[in-house]
Amino acid sequence: MATRCGIGYDSHRFAAGGPLRLGGVSIPAEVSLSGHSDGDAVAHAITDAVLGAAGAGDIGELFPDSDPANHRRDSLDMLRVAVQRAATHGWRPAHVDVTVIAEQPRLAPHRAAMRAALAAALGIDADAVSVKGKTNEGMGWIGRGEGIACIAVATLEPRDGAR
Ligand SMILES: [Zn+2]
Repeated sequence: MATRCGIGYDSHRFAAGGPLRLGGVSIPAEVSLSGHSDGDAVAHAITDAVLGAAGAGDIGELFPDSDPANHRRDSLDMLRVAVQRAATHGWRPAHVDVTVIAEQPRLAPHRAAMRAALAAALGIDADAVSVKGKTNEGMGWIGRGEGIACIAVATLEPRDGAR
């Protein structure tokens, strides 16, 4: 059976004052992620991976900064819209794997909640969503704690009756 794989990357700068919205979860923190929406770089990277695998454009095209509807928008809602768009192209998510690169916060205490929130938005089981955390070993802008980067891959399979 044919499957598709897509990749997504996103980065956001830290801003003063929490909480930190990441992977659909509000994490108590001294910083948040700045951005036009809620800055959820995990959700954004997955959204681009899903759109990429479906050959359905990218997040900037689907949710332009110039649209007031996207201001402070819940990024899980953006992910749900991307999944719907992939469906119109005949695809549905089967599995997602994410690596978050940041010096802080520690993800381990929040991983289960993030997997559950992302899985619900993707319409798949939580065990088909992987979220992994890495530091950048103190190097560069990530090492200086200026922001966060995320890389995601999404595997899509044909919808029932499609293809
Ligand atoms: Zn983003």
